[in-house]
Amino acid sequence: MPPTITLDAAASPEAKRHLDAMLRALQDALRKPPVWSEVRDDVDRAFAAYDGYIAHVVSVHPMSCAEGCTACCYDNPRGVTGVELQRVHDWILSRPGAGSTMMRFAQLAAQRGDPARWRARGIPCPLLKDGRCSAYVARPVACRAFVALTPAAWCSPGDPQHAERVNPHLDPPLVLVQALRVLSERLGMVNADNLHSGMSRLG
Ligand code: SF4
Ligand code: SF4
Repeated sequence: MPPTITLDAAASPEAKRHLDAMLRALQDALRKPPVWSEVRDDVDRAFAAYDGYIAHVVSVHPMSCAEGCTACCYDNPRGVTGVELQRVHDWILSRPGAGSTMMRFAQLAAQRGDPARWRARGIPCPLLKDGRCSAYVARPVACRAFVALTPAAWCSPGDPQHAERVNPHLDPPLVLVQALRVLSERLGMVNADNLHSGMSRLG
């Protein structure tokens, strides 16, 4: 397993401002009737605030991640809540080629195997199009929180220094994930072990 470190940026006032905004948005969602159309804007607001938090962390702790860097998109993001799946699904349905994207998720979900070893198979996420995440705004927390402190090349399973990569967790995503789990339960949305299996159920 690669080493994991906890970043201390959450202690800064700016990080706290973003995290507080994120929690406020989720609390607003939890106070509303459990209907997706009622809470969608609040959830979008929570993700926008989380993105602000990530941007702050990256400004304090420069990462190797850059636009067009995609080795981590050959993984199958794990631990995706029902609400996140719904956001991705909405995004896919709003774009051309939705049917083939959903079919690809179903094909990959049917290829059983150890999700932890998926990346070594070299199969891109169905949302990776033209070297970019085509659902960037709607991507799950697992994708947002996955970054690298070591050179980007080390993220590729075939790189000789892959075992030495450092992919820190952008703590505290657990607060976000727990709130999303509670909200998903209220909405009757089912969480998934991974993105492929979750999307295949929505197909
Ligand atoms: S985690 Fe690695 S592969 Fe993914 S964007 Fe960052 S440097 Fe690139
Ligand atoms: S959802 Fe987007 S960011 Fe996440 S693995 Fe797929 S292409 Fe990459």
